[in-house]
Formats: sequence, structure tokens, C-alpha cells
Amino acid sequence: MSLTPNNFTQLENFGHSLRASSYRFRPKCSEEIQEIFQLAEENELSVTARGAGRSYNDAALNGGGIMLDLSTMNQVLEWDPATGLVKCEPGVTLEKLWQRVEPDGWWPPVVSGTMFTTLGGCLAANIHGKNNFKMGPIGEHVVEFHALLPTGAEITCTPSKNADLFYAMISGIGMLGIFTSITMQMKHIESGLLEVQALPVHDLHEHLSVLLDQAPHHDYIVGWMDTMNGGKSLGRGQIHAADYLHANEDPNPQKTMQLKNQVLPPRIFGVFPKSILYLFMMPFANNLGWWGVNTAKYIASLRTHTFRQPHAAFHFLLDYVPNWELSYGRGGLIQHQSFLPKETAEEAWREILTLSLKRGMPSYLGVTKRHRPDQFLLTHALDGFSLALDFKVTDRYRSSLSQMLKEFDKIILEAGGRFYFAKNSETSAEHARAFLGDETIVKFKKLKKRCDPENILESDLYRRVFG
Ligand SMILES: Cc1cc2nc3c(=O)[nH]c(=O)nc-3n(C[C@H](O)[C@H](O)[C@H](O)COP(=O)(O)OP(=O)(O)OC[C@H]3O[C@@H](n4cnc5c(N)ncnc54)[C@H](O)[C@@H]3O)c2cc1C
Repeated sequence: MSLTPNNFTQLENFGHSLRASSYRFRPKCSEEIQEIFQLAEENELSVTARGAGRSYNDAALNGGGIMLDLSTMNQVLEWDPATGLVKCEPGVTLEKLWQRVEPDGWWPPVVSGTMFTTLGGCLAANIHGKNNFKMGPIGEHVVEFHALLPTGAEITCTPSKNADLFYAMISGIGMLGIFTSITMQMKHIESGLLEVQALPVHDLHEHLSVLLDQAPHHDYIVGWMDTMNGGKSLGRGQIHAADYLHANEDPNPQKTMQLKNQVLPPRIFGVFPKSILYLFMMPFANNLGWWGVNTAKYIASLRTHTFRQPHAAFHFLLDYVPNWELSYGRGGLIQHQSFLPKETAEEAWREILTLSLKRGMPSYLGVTKRHRPDQFLLTHALDGFSLALDFKVTDRYRSSLSQMLKEFDKIILEAGGRFYFAKNSETSAEHARAFLGDETIVKFKKLKKRCDPENILESDLYRRVFG
């Protein structure tokens, strides 16, 4: 293994708004990861792991350093359909995982809004799903993992063995060690379908009240927010609440759990290949276009109704349109996701949404969820809600957008909020310290010293928030 101009390559975040060049290696086993650590040490370079590169920010970027691309360590090592326990290499994607377990009557207990993320990346960020209020983050379903530390030590962690590392490496954004295998408990399902209820909400107060009141009665809940309309309509949108079907509610569960009944259709209306759909979205990727899209979507959402949907279609709506992020154009997109206590969310979000409309830099897509706290060290969750906002980045507005998001951060912090290291690209070291607290930072740095005394594991994100 050596550093050559051939493996020095430019990588991007998911939204194509950030770039960094690194030496990219694709290890196939722990021994090769170990060799890369040695190479890094000899050449005084830092190392960052990368799964599928689906983080919205700089979590999987490492300018000038080494990129450990783990997408080739992608084997399901063991699967037991009797117990629902699965052991995987870190580069296994959620897509590969659900497609393996679903026909046997199981489903990953926590998934992200895209199925293209890897398990290693999901653990490092400790992802949440639309059931965070009920099932917690993905880390709560990890039974055991093996990891390689930059010291060369190979460790096994469970909630009771090396528990401090278990709770810090999951959520630790890849800065303490590299997951080399992950064992998780899947969730038993009795049907390939979910029963989904669609509820219109007419303003921000109603939006949050419905999330709060409905969540305890459902397995999943998620809100879409029209972020282009202010005034009395601010925060209006639609809530989707979904429930698992029981065996007696699905006349043919064996059929609905077959992969062919889960896979997203390759064509829209049976005609247009999905692969080119993003091109048709491009002309709408401006304030007027997205105002039209949001307004039309809201009008179409005004009817309360119930329908049945395959698991994959419910969870991975964003994957319906491949490369949809390219529709944002050359500058790409970034996301700002804030987590707020249920008591302060309404006022703080009213302030930031109003500010974005006033400044002429509205978010084109807003998604809300209901959360509960968890015990992982760098947790982003709390007893409240999250609001994820997508913003188009252009050369003209890049710095004023960045300035505005920093103002958002201040408002969120004053309201007792938190941020997510897989999403936000503006959160500063000062703001990270403010929401994590000194005690957490000291604990994390102590573990960092123990696992990685030479500071080999560093990413652009790490330098930004812990530098
Ligand atoms: C369309 C879309 C929807 C999303 N929806 C959600 C959602 O609903 N909920 C949610 O929580 N997140 C969501 N995300 C964010 C996404 O789940 C996280 O960013 C996740 O970390 C991406 O996984 P990845 O494999 O692409 O990891 P990368 O982006 O490649 O890496 C993420 C982090 O993991 C580290 N890492 C990767 N592999 C390893 C390893 N083997 N060992 C140690 N560290 C490692 C990297 O160093 C980096 O810090 C979404 C992202 C997209 C693009």
C-alpha cells in the first residue's frame, strides 16, 4: 500500500456542496485497515472512514489526508431468521440488510430516510428513524460490535463489555476507531405493509401538537412542512403516522413480504425512467419553483386519509428519485437539522423560519420528527422534535446562507436545542461545546486519547467541531 497521485481523489458530501481531496483506499479486512493506519503514521497524515458518503456535511471528508473507503467490506456474515440476529461487515448498506431479512419476516429496527447508507456510517452517526420516540437510535439495537483502534488494538464492545466505548463509538462520528463488524437485533414483522394515516396540519402550532399527541399511538410518525409560506400558514404541512400490520390484518403476508412487492418502481407512471427525473426537477430549484411545489403539495395534502404502503416505500421516499440532490444545481445543497425540547420548539422554529423567508433564503424542504433522549455520548436526541431544512447553495448566497445558519444555531442553543453531526455543516466548536457540555467533551477527549493517542483519526468535521 502506498500514496500515489492515482489514489489522490476529490470526494464530496452528499449534497455536492463541499469537496475535499484525499488518498482513497478500499480495505477488504482489518489487516488492511491496520496497514493504512501505519502508512498514515509514517506520513503524518490523518485518516477518516467513509461508508457511502451520504452525510450532508463534512463528516466523511478529510482534506489532504487518507480516506478509508469501507464500502468494499460489505458482506452479511451471519443471519439467523429464527432469532433475528444479523452480523455484518461495516460497509453493508441498509438496502442490502433489509433485502436480506425482510423475506424472512424481519425489518431493521431503525432506518434513515435513504437505504443507501452503510451500517458503519449509521453507527458512527447513531442514526434515528421515524420511530425515534419509540425505538431510540440505531445504537440501541446493536448487540455487539468489533472495532479496530488506531493503536492496533482490536476490541469487542457490547452494552456491558467495554461499555464506555460502546456508548461513545456509537455516535462518535468515526473518531475513536473503525467498526469492523456489527451484530444487530432485527424487528419481527408480520406483514410487508404498514398502515399509514395522512393528516393535514394548518400551522406550526397544530403541526407540533399533532406530532406530540399522535406519536404515542403509532409505530412511526413524520411530518412534511411547507417552508415556503409564512404568516398564519407558517409551519403548515402534513403528518404521516404509520403502524405495523398484524398477521390477521394482512390477507397475504408471505406475498407482501416478497422483495418484488417492496422494491421501488423503476419508472414513474410506468413511463419515465426515474434515473432522469432529477433533470425535470432542475427548473423548479429556485424560490418561485419550490414555492409552487410546496403550495401544490399542501393543497393536495388537505384530505385526511388512510392507506397501506410497503415498508421500503414508506421509509425510503427520498430514494424514489435517484440523484434528486443534483436537481439543486452546481452549488448543491446543505441541511440544517435542529433538535428542540417540546416546550421551546414552536417559538424557536417560528423565529428561524420567519428569518429565512425574510432574508429570501427559504428552505425548499422541511421534515419534522418526534424524539426521545438516549444515553450515547455525542447524542443529538432529546425529548422533543427535530426539524430538518434543506437549503440550496449558490455562489452568490453561500456566505449569507452560512451567516444565517449560524444565527439559527444561536436561536436553537438559546432554546435549549441540539444539533446532529451527520447533517449540519455550520455548527462551530463553540456551539458544539454549548450543546454537548464541558463534561461530555472532556469524556470524549479522554477516550480519544486512549483509543487514538496520535490523533490519526480526524475528519474535516472533527477539526471544525473539536479542533
Ligand atoms: C437522503 C438522506 C436521508 C437521510 N435520512 C436520515 C434519517 O432519517 N435519520 C438520520 O439519522 N440520518 C439520516 N441521514 C444521514 C445519514 O444517515 C448519515 O449521514 C449516515 O452517517 C450516512 O451513512 P454513510 O454510510 O453514508 O456514512 P458516511 O457519510 O460515509 O460517514 C458518516 C460518518 O461515519 C463514519 N464512518 C463510516 N464508516 C465507519 C466505520 N466503519 N467505522 C467508524 N466510522 C465510520 C465516517 O467517518 C463519518 O464520520 C440521511 C442522509 C441522506 C442523504
